[in-house]
Amino acid sequence: MSDAPIRKATAAGRWETVPVHEYKPEGSAPFRDVTRQVLFSRPELACEWRYFEVAAGGHSTLERHEHVHGVMILNGRGACLVGQEVRSVGPHDLVEIAPHTWHQFRATEAGPLGFLCLVNVERDRPALPDEADLEALRADPRVAAFIRV
Ligand code: MN
Repeated sequence: MSDAPIRKATAAGRWETVPVHEYKPEGSAPFRDVTRQVLFSRPELACEWRYFEVAAGGHSTLERHEHVHGVMILNGRGACLVGQEVRSVGPHDLVEIAPHTWHQFRATEAGPLGFLCLVNVERDRPALPDEADLEALRADPRVAAFIRV
């Protein structure tokens, strides 16, 4: 829950009183150079609105889960995997991640990729791919070239 109704942006992807956290606990899942900020979270909302920033050359965890993500790219450029689809993404693009769909975000080497992500407060834990999952994903050469684990 925020302590002020209005929190001014202080820079691209930074806001007054919003702390910048590690994306996930170190060693809990494979990822590289990602931060997490919770922008809106209060009991009256059934959802949370977060901002993630993947540093240049970094990537989010390759994962899937029951809960859905509604994503809007806010800053920078990169690419994402959703299911079997790999697409480049940039500011204001929308990405919807349906239940049980493999997904991963990568920033370009040139700069960070920042995106807003809406999720349910009550949600299941992400699952990571096992060897059989990776083999199935890698059957598609574009997916094989994209994913980082
Ligand atoms: Mn996810």
